[in-house]
Amino acid sequence: MPQDQVFWYLKPSTPQRLTKTITTDVVIIGGGMAGISAAQSFRKRGLNVVLIEKYFCGAGATGKSSGFITPDSELGLPYFARHYGVHKAQALWELVTGGMQLIQDNIVAFNIGCDYQQQETLVVANKKRDYASFKEEHDLRSKLGYTSTLYQQNELPTVLGSSHYYGGLRSGGTFGIHAYAYVQHMKDRLQEMGVAVYEETPALSIAEHTVQTPLASIKANYIIVCIDRWAPDLGILTKDIYHAQTFLMVSPPLIDKIVQKIFPQDHFMVWDTDHIYTYYRLIHDNRFLVGGGSWLRTLAQRPTYHADSVYRTLTSYIKKKFPEVTLTFSYRWPGLIGITKDIMAYAGRDPHVPNIYYIAGASGLPWAAALGAYSVENLLDNRTDFDTYFSPTRTFIPGHTAQRFIGKRATFALATSINLFLKPYI
Ligand SMILES: Cc1cc2nc3c(=O)[nH]c(=O)nc-3n(C[C@H](O)[C@H](O)[C@H](O)COP(=O)(O)OP(=O)(O)OC[C@H]3O[C@@H](n4cnc5c(N)ncnc54)[C@H](O)[C@@H]3O)c2cc1C
Repeated sequence: MPQDQVFWYLKPSTPQRLTKTITTDVVIIGGGMAGISAAQSFRKRGLNVVLIEKYFCGAGATGKSSGFITPDSELGLPYFARHYGVHKAQALWELVTGGMQLIQDNIVAFNIGCDYQQQETLVVANKKRDYASFKEEHDLRSKLGYTSTLYQQNELPTVLGSSHYYGGLRSGGTFGIHAYAYVQHMKDRLQEMGVAVYEETPALSIAEHTVQTPLASIKANYIIVCIDRWAPDLGILTKDIYHAQTFLMVSPPLIDKIVQKIFPQDHFMVWDTDHIYTYYRLIHDNRFLVGGGSWLRTLAQRPTYHADSVYRTLTSYIKKKFPEVTLTFSYRWPGLIGITKDIMAYAGRDPHVPNIYYIAGASGLPWAAALGAYSVENLLDNRTDFDTYFSPTRTFIPGHTAQRFIGKRATFALATSINLFLKPYI
């Protein structure tokens, strides 16, 4: 029976709390990928930076994540082209790949041991008609100068040991990391650079230039709120941030023969084309990580720690796709991701208090990293070219009035479906 334990947390953190009131240039609230990236970017510009974290750095989505570092997670290039046109799609793609680059540069510059593995991405079609969308994406990529390889159903088994998909689309430049180790290492590096990091120090309230924590307050010129799905707890984006849930399982180390059967050529990061998709990759020690969810659990009101049915479904999915291998699992855990109604992150200034900046609902680690850096350019250099896409005040259908009647969960289910599937090409 797998342990209900986040595999990555086997090495715990040693927190330091804030006990004295302080003054600084910038306070970052939240020690996930977005907060770490913002802290680093502000510090690089010579400002005094304090980062406070409610639990420990990586305690949120970042440290629980499966560590796929790819530009397309929930939102891919075709989505951007459909919604914003091809040129803007390319600009957004460059922004998110900039987030990947930032993570990679840090790993190299600081020699971060975070199970960095160059792993190409392979998206696999669960239905015949999904393969047609690969063709569209492949063409779009090549039009914009990004390479990819299409595999028809009969070709796919040469690169993935399953004959139970209808084809695949491969793209390079992607990699996998142990994201908890990454942020914990970055915490140490930030401290060496002069950033003051306080864990077990939640923000209890935010005023114009003041953040109140349990034992002390912080006065700052800029306040950057990077608390993702917790934003409503501080009265921020209360109607506009919800959460989605996904579940992960990690196997014991696999012998090479089994690895070879699953990945006969390269160790890909794989996900399928289902709306609530299943994803898997190899992590260190040849452990197999698989993640996914279910319609019922994904938008559940509360985190679900006892989701045996989801874990059973994931196990039988792998059995069905790779009937020649038998996998067991030793760890399993759920994780919540902050979401917006169109799955595009929020990144922008508070409309009434412009020295306060919010980042929330980043659909993926590269987005969180990219927007952490963007917040600095926005506040210090007045860079605004991406503001409209990520505006925290953008509106959706259904709007707030409908939400009052049908509730937050149903509104998010409807709005995300409308935005992901129905919005026409522009
Ligand atoms: C199970 C799972 C798997 C995932 N897999 C991937 C993947 O493979 N690839 C990918 O790109 N993305 C993945 N994601 C999504 C990705 O992890 C998130 O998009 C990203 O980590 C968001 O980063 P963040 O810094 O905005 O939020 P978080 O990492 O959630 O950070 C927010 C931080 O704020 C802290 N906080 C909350 N309230 C307060 C407060 N009042 N005061 C101070 N601190 C506070 C929290 O403790 C937390 O540490 C996954 C997510 C989950 C849950």
